[in-house]
Amino acid sequence: MTVAPVSSEVPAILGGSPVRRTLLPYGRQSIDESDIQAVVETLRSDCLTTGPKVAEFEEAMAAWVGAKYAVSFSSGTAALHAAAFTCGLQAGDEAITSPLTFAATANCVLYQAATPVFADVLEDTLNLDREQVAARITARTKAILPVDYAGHPADIDAILRLAERHGLIVIEDACHALGAEYRGRRVGGVAHMTVFSFHPVKHLTTGEGGMVTTDNPVFAETLRRFRNHGISSDARQRQRAGQWHYEMVLLGFNYRLTDIACALGLQQMKKLEANLARRRQIAAQYTSEFRSMTGVVAPVVRPDVNPAWHLYPIRLDLTKLSAGRDEFFQALRAENIGVNVHYIPVHRHPYYRDRFGYKGGEFPVAEAAYERLISLPMFHGMSDNDVEDVVCAVRKVVGHYGT
Ligand SMILES: *Cc1c(COP(=O)(O)O)cnc(C)c1O
Repeated sequence: MTVAPVSSEVPAILGGSPVRRTLLPYGRQSIDESDIQAVVETLRSDCLTTGPKVAEFEEAMAAWVGAKYAVSFSSGTAALHAAAFTCGLQAGDEAITSPLTFAATANCVLYQAATPVFADVLEDTLNLDREQVAARITARTKAILPVDYAGHPADIDAILRLAERHGLIVIEDACHALGAEYRGRRVGGVAHMTVFSFHPVKHLTTGEGGMVTTDNPVFAETLRRFRNHGISSDARQRQRAGQWHYEMVLLGFNYRLTDIACALGLQQMKKLEANLARRRQIAAQYTSEFRSMTGVVAPVVRPDVNPAWHLYPIRLDLTKLSAGRDEFFQALRAENIGVNVHYIPVHRHPYYRDRFGYKGGEFPVAEAAYERLISLPMFHGMSDNDVEDVVCAVRKVVGHYGT
């Protein structure tokens, strides 16, 4: 094994010159002329919303992930809300999820007036620990919401077995994991419902947008009604049938994704596999550099998965560094590397602390990871030079703070 060279340059945070002149973001979209054309065509068409592009995008996504149905939403958060509604969560119920996620994963349980219950994560993947979930199941538990942290699939088979034993629904928050593979299958065709986001930092964007995939026809129908005010047919179906009559059968929302957005999504899908390949290439380059670099720990990949690499989160080895995560973060920012931290554990946000009385320390694995996590730039539009800049900046900062 070769040992990566240590840089002796002065870090930018101490007045040295930064590795880059402009900030490299941690994530960003790629939009090309074909995407712009697809949107323009839809703008010139008869339907700006709930037209042919919605169904086309949904069908393409269902086929691609290997699910029977896909239902689009105006955001990943709306999609999570719809999934929480569809599994029947209501006041008095509990749903178990990871504390190391974006707040929306737990918030969707609160939207249904149910209670989110956190379970700690595994040390290696930072995904839900099945044992911790099992220990928190009560008579009130109705659902489990595993999160595919950073794009590494959660151990869904183990969670599904547990859910089956207790009659629970599994909603996989795969907002990081479009295109990830779990035991040879694409994420999206495994859990009872799987949720994706099309926010610009994700693998494919529609500006804002989201999707739920499922094999369950009853779930699919409820999801469609929920996103359209609880109405049992959409305007397009009525127009085709020459009918004006419709029925509102449940209390839904307007969570529809527009035809404009779906036209963009369909066009972006054509580049999805190439984009995933590029992210995997970048991850492989990073990992080969960081495996041998003292002070940083590369993310773990289990043998039965192929991650989608939404994020590339390193963990600092604080025993080998004279600085903490915050100083390390500031030092990388000074080099113009747009690092980020994913995530402040949800239960440590003031809203959750105040409402549920969390004091911190309840989920030691997630909290210890949080103290050491830094997400490096990871997006398919990164050039080889961008990747080298990141490696160079990390080496420089490690060289300075290494003990
Ligand atoms: C992005 C994201 C969401 C929410 O998606 P939006 O489309 O931004 O509403 C939910 N959960 C996780 C884990 C995410 O990364």
